[in-house]
Amino acid sequence: MPEPLAWIDDELQSLKKTGLYNTIRTLDSPQGAWLVVDGKKVLNFCSNNYLGLANHPSIVQAATQAMQNYGVGPGAVRSIAGTMSLHIRLEERLAAFKKVPAAITFQSGFSANLAAIPALVGKEDVIFSDELNHASIIDGSRLSGAKIIRFAHCDPADLEQKIQEASGSYRRGIVISDGVFSMDGDIAPLDKLVEIAKKYDLMTLVDDAHGEGVLGEGGRGIVDHFHLHGKVDVEVGTFSKAFGVVGGAVAGDARVAEWLRQRGRPFLFSSAVTVPDTAATLAAIDLLEESTQLVDRLWENALYFQSEMRTLGFDTGKTQTPITPVMLGEVQLAREFSRRLFEEGVFAMALGYPTVPQGKARIRVMLSATHSRQDLEQALEIFNRVGKQLGVLQG
Ligand SMILES: *Cc1c(COP(=O)(O)O)cnc(C)c1O
Repeated sequence: MPEPLAWIDDELQSLKKTGLYNTIRTLDSPQGAWLVVDGKKVLNFCSNNYLGLANHPSIVQAATQAMQNYGVGPGAVRSIAGTMSLHIRLEERLAAFKKVPAAITFQSGFSANLAAIPALVGKEDVIFSDELNHASIIDGSRLSGAKIIRFAHCDPADLEQKIQEASGSYRRGIVISDGVFSMDGDIAPLDKLVEIAKKYDLMTLVDDAHGEGVLGEGGRGIVDHFHLHGKVDVEVGTFSKAFGVVGGAVAGDARVAEWLRQRGRPFLFSSAVTVPDTAATLAAIDLLEESTQLVDRLWENALYFQSEMRTLGFDTGKTQTPITPVMLGEVQLAREFSRRLFEEGVFAMALGYPTVPQGKARIRVMLSATHSRQDLEQALEIFNRVGKQLGVLQG
């Protein structure tokens, strides 16, 4: 008999053989425009630190101060003795920032979906889910036991058809979509999805992880972008991307927040976000409310970089946000491109099948407000050079 864990060796071997093994690089610096990665100083185009808040002095200061006053850990799950006044303040401030009645926080965006979806639908119910929704939506949906019906990506007409086909077969229904899709940077047609959901009396949930701090006035997110305040039942968010910290939230209808305090399993059975995380997120909201400067800067950088890349001859796909795919086709080419960029001092990830469809491999460039114009010019020059070396660009 083989020893019981031997199968893992076989699986890992097979991942390595098929090129699907994930090698994880180690950082020796804070997040920022530049990183020290595996001992080498490189320009960073990999992080979701859109606004540079992950290492912002006033946020670090707020977290430090809060630890002096409240310590580090919450001590218990929130429903027993782990809710601190800081958590409540964060929920109130977040709801006000997003101009919705209520918010409830979780340990991460991933847990927010695992809490919200199974609390809203169960075995007799149905979920209409965009076919490219995030893994945490897929897992939350499976956990709920509801029937999952996929609709074509960002296609309101297909959603409506799927709703009509399922008519009469369920108790409650919910339409769920990512706000911004992280592989292509495209934006869900949320206004149309919500209109259709209302027409058929369905609940709505949008996961705005990549829209928070990016879309809408001063980064208020996708609901603000489409002026849908009060019309989206559940807005899932994360504090780990533009907010630069860690944590998740559900914002929207007050009844949903109240229900999740009673029935959200990650709320009831897993401890709250830590004191420094909570204080840091509060400070991030302060910064966003004080000024739109960082969000404006992010968009300036994104639009400049994307337009220069297209001028060089690169295909930047269908992005509508600072997420910038550089479409290359075959995964081997994307990997080699990423490797050469790294040699030249640019850290940008290659994404291939099964993360994106076969033949649609790419480098994904994540722009940030922390990049200077000089950083971007340097990166453009390196992209141009590597593009020519690898025959992606002419000449
Ligand atoms: C990143 C992401 C999450 C997970 O957020 P965490 O706070 O890092 O757990 C959830 N949903 C979407 C759409 C995401 O992009």
